[in-house]
Amino acid sequence: MSGDTQAMAKQKVTGRPSIFVREWFADYLWDLFCPGCQTPVVARIVAEALDELEIGDKALMVGCVGCGGILIGGFDLDRVSPAHGRGPDVATALKRIYPGSIVFTVQGDGDCIAIGSSALVGALTRAEKITIIMVNNTNFGTTGGQLGPTTIVGQVTTTSPEGRKPESEGYPAHAAELAATFKGVAYSARGSLHTPASYQKTKGYIKTAFQRQIDNVGTSFVEVLTACPTNWHLSPVKSLEYIAEKIIPEFPLGEFRNVSHIE
Ligand code: SF4
Repeated sequence: MSGDTQAMAKQKVTGRPSIFVREWFADYLWDLFCPGCQTPVVARIVAEALDELEIGDKALMVGCVGCGGILIGGFDLDRVSPAHGRGPDVATALKRIYPGSIVFTVQGDGDCIAIGSSALVGALTRAEKITIIMVNNTNFGTTGGQLGPTTIVGQVTTTSPEGRKPESEGYPAHAAELAATFKGVAYSARGSLHTPASYQKTKGYIKTAFQRQIDNVGTSFVEVLTACPTNWHLSPVKSLEYIAEKIIPEFPLGEFRNVSHIE
């Protein structure tokens, strides 16, 4: 391997995406996120996708309330923090004011499909040319691990100490499948980060979602399953096994809609 190739390979494996704020990650990452949390990994794949598509200079981030929103300080982009659940509304405004920009939200499942469900459905209905990235860790992480719309049946949370029961709490909400039913949605997919292969596949989903926005086709939506070891009361390694064994059977991975043109 030549010196240049070696340097490029090292940058790819250990380097930082160009839009990461080095000092922020060095100073705050370990204070703000629990050990084994995969929320910062979502930031990494989003940043890598923006770099690889060479659209970082046009990107506008809407970092929503919750553990995912904390990441907003780590991106060297123009950024906005909306009120809880209002990410798609704010992204809509930004995209309409700056149509040449690439606008994306990073939202937790509670923010996106519980508190912000009306904003989500509104954006999908209007076919807004934005990208919505929903981080699904099956609970309200920031506020202490309460039951959320994505909590799986039987899962213990602080508000379902005996596990989610369908007779009283119903069944988990499937956001990626829901988004795929809207005619104005160009792309909807669900990925995970529990293996290196799933990391790469999910990055591909996010790149396709951004590409659909670049091509001005319609709304793009990506749900990412992530580990929340603290609220799951599992070690980081056991959390990855839990995703494979319990979460993915409820939330299958893959693309649910992918069109390059909407009639
Ligand atoms: S509560 Fe969960 S999602 Fe939030 S930082 Fe901790 S592990 Fe991550």
